[in-house]
Amino acid sequence: EGVEKYRAISPAEFFYKYREIAGFSNPVRALYQTVRELYENALDATDAHGILPDVKISIKRVDEIQEYYRVTVEDNGIGLPPDVVPNAFGKVLFSSKYVLKQTRGMYGLGVKMAVLYGQMTTGRPVEVITSKQGFKRIYYFKLRIDVNKNEPVILERGTWRKSRDWHGTIVSITLEGDWARAKPKIMEYLSRSVVVTPYANIIFLTPENEIIYYPRAISILPRPPVEVKPHPFGVDLEMMKQLKELSASDTVKDLLIKNFQSVGESTATEVLNRAGVDPSKPAGSLGEDELLRIVNAIKGFENLRPPSAKAISPLGREIIVTGLSRMFKPEFVEAVTRRPQVYHGHPFIVEAGVAYGGGTPQSEMDKPVILRYANKIPLLYDEGSDVTTFVIKEDINWANYSIAFPAPLVVLVHVCSTKIPFKGVGKESIADVPEIRREIRLALMEVLRRLKIYLVRKAREEEVKRRVVL
Ligand code: ADP
Ligand code: MG
Repeated sequence: EGVEKYRAISPAEFFYKYREIAGFSNPVRALYQTVRELYENALDATDAHGILPDVKISIKRVDEIQEYYRVTVEDNGIGLPPDVVPNAFGKVLFSSKYVLKQTRGMYGLGVKMAVLYGQMTTGRPVEVITSKQGFKRIYYFKLRIDVNKNEPVILERGTWRKSRDWHGTIVSITLEGDWARAKPKIMEYLSRSVVVTPYANIIFLTPENEIIYYPRAISILPRPPVEVKPHPFGVDLEMMKQLKELSASDTVKDLLIKNFQSVGESTATEVLNRAGVDPSKPAGSLGEDELLRIVNAIKGFENLRPPSAKAISPLGREIIVTGLSRMFKPEFVEAVTRRPQVYHGHPFIVEAGVAYGGGTPQSEMDKPVILRYANKIPLLYDEGSDVTTFVIKEDINWANYSIAFPAPLVVLVHVCSTKIPFKGVGKESIADVPEIRREIRLALMEVLRRLKIYLVRKAREEEVKRRVVL
């Protein structure tokens, strides 16, 4: 009576218990989410590194009684060095994407959730085959996750010589799924994804042995993102303490210049003067009060350049127009990429596109068909609580653009950033951040103005034709 039981759990055990928050709530969602995680990793390993993606997805039923499916995704990406494979696939919160650079993945969680779900429902381990460009060998691993320790357990490994310079990764996970019910979501996810990746070759083999092929429609890639140093706006005491340990032998002035973007000689000197800290003092000897004074001096500094947008990788007009045209064969299509902006110290860019008429599907009674994307990932669930939906329903006066619903109108919104304010780790909706909301509104107004010009001209021409006929 009244005796509490205390213990700590590992990150693997936490996410195993609360898998719903990462999108693994049942066999339908789990199958969809597994395809997504593997596919998004495949794209991150290709387009973000300047490689035109060739991705093969296959889902095969592997048990006659149980609904066990083997999901395999193969890419022609950068591959992984063999020594990191076990952690990348078997340790929750291990990632190469914890850097300031736009990627689809960001939590270091996705593939491990799929591995965990697979091992808890079927007992089968994950299989990985990988090689990097220039490596002489291909590496093979079969592993599972030790949930209590959050460590990979290697069950089998192998390596063989490469006969040609293949590079890329093949991942297979076997899990309990519900194909019949997951199918529409997976199909929708892929078709939405290829709208923003028309530069990829995507082949999908279904459990019915149906082949779905989206051939490459354009051979240009978005400019790959470049890793940047943190912007001083995001600095805090914890960060300064870590930097102090890492650059203990540098002077405090050099510490600031080396570790932050847009801090040069004069800014560093000025910040330290304001903080009352000698610029030539070794970083290792700084006390906590000095570190805190530096943090406050940086934050109060007015003349800093805004965060660099090099780390973000928008699609650009041509790719969006190509993607929308291929998917909908519309009579009118247009897209815009806005200039970089900042929220809470993070750079972001909003892009918007419209497709109208032709093969464009008819919308609902109160809004257009909405295609939402964040860092090139389609967002399918939770449309009602997404910032883009708020803008479309509340901030745009559609009558201004000569549009009455239902209309054959698709609206695309892409938000890209080094940090997307997702509402959950399942990455299905973006929070209502005022700076982002404003940019979405402005981007939409820009493309809708062009649509309006088209619609007005078309109406006028039809009017003229009618008069001629009469
Ligand atoms: P995240 O994608 O958020 O980083 P994941 O658990 O999905 O987390 O993947 C962990 C890491 O494994 C990635 O950061 C990446 O370095 C590596 N990885 C996973 N899949 C691939 C792949 N297909 N090609 C290259 N690297 C991969
Ligand atoms: Mg991932």
